[in-house]
Amino acid sequence: MSTPLLEARGLRKYFSLRRGLWARPMVLRAVDGVDLQVGKDMVLGVVGESGSGKSTLARLLLALLEPTEGDVLFMGHSVFTLKDELMRAFRQAVQAVFQDPFASLNPRKRVLELVGEPLRIHALVQSRGELLERVRELLQAVGLGPEALWRYPHEFSGGQRQRLCIARALAVEPRLIIADEPLSALDVSIQAQVLSLFAELRRQRGLSYVFISHDLRVVQYLSDTVAVMYLGRVLEQASREEFFRKPLHPYSQMLLASAPSLEPGRRRAVPKGDVPSPLEVPTGCPFHPRCPRRFSPCDQVLPKLQAPGGGGRLVACHLYNPY
Ligand code: SF4
Repeated sequence: MSTPLLEARGLRKYFSLRRGLWARPMVLRAVDGVDLQVGKDMVLGVVGESGSGKSTLARLLLALLEPTEGDVLFMGHSVFTLKDELMRAFRQAVQAVFQDPFASLNPRKRVLELVGEPLRIHALVQSRGELLERVRELLQAVGLGPEALWRYPHEFSGGQRQRLCIARALAVEPRLIIADEPLSALDVSIQAQVLSLFAELRRQRGLSYVFISHDLRVVQYLSDTVAVMYLGRVLEQASREEFFRKPLHPYSQMLLASAPSLEPGRRRAVPKGDVPSPLEVPTGCPFHPRCPRRFSPCDQVLPKLQAPGGGGRLVACHLYNPY
């Protein structure tokens, strides 16, 4: 098998917190042993409720945070030991689009500067004329006209601002975009347009994505592979077809049953309970307090993420894997 574009190996990120000066430090397990691979021209959808560790995972994959344990490899090289040229190559090849497009754009800069900045930083243009031409092309690629060049971020709608963020990410011709909830700050009517833009850009440019969302409809539309996160762990990983045809993990089943309008007319189930605090992760299977199918070992023994009966599909549940 060829080397993956990006790989997480045994990735853990714990934060030490104190609730008062004299209180004992507590450990928040934001990401707790994640293994993932993203290949060329592949979309990995990462789904889970709020508090599942998705955004911390994104920041680790982008090397914006150092892991407590484990590693992130870009084309086989640890991103945390990259120096100079290699780090620049990683920063160019792997770009990010975040949830809040307004916070991502400096309000005092015009679009020409905002979208042109990465081109100048990576010395991808030699003259102002070239810069203007490239930024116009990028705006066109994300569905904005050349008149946008001279405007400030506050002059755009939320959807248009997210298009600017995407243009900025595309400027350096990345191979992979890590998109962390890029639709959730947008109106529902705009979400579909921006989602189509992500799909179109993938088709045109052969991009790979790690697409992080709490919304299963988004993941279903765009992903080749789905990873379900809960309390910092991956509980199930499967191809999109397998996952949406028959989710195996009880948590995946609960997410799907409570997702809005995956089948029009179907009534949504209400998810049972809330995600526990990552400061107090339950013993055994982290999902056991909410699981309708828990049995004797579930509150004691942590299930491993394994392929039941071989194959590529992975699930962390005692129902499928002997313990
Ligand atoms: Fe439910 Fe047990 Fe499976 Fe966890 S291991 S999901 S508690 S059946």
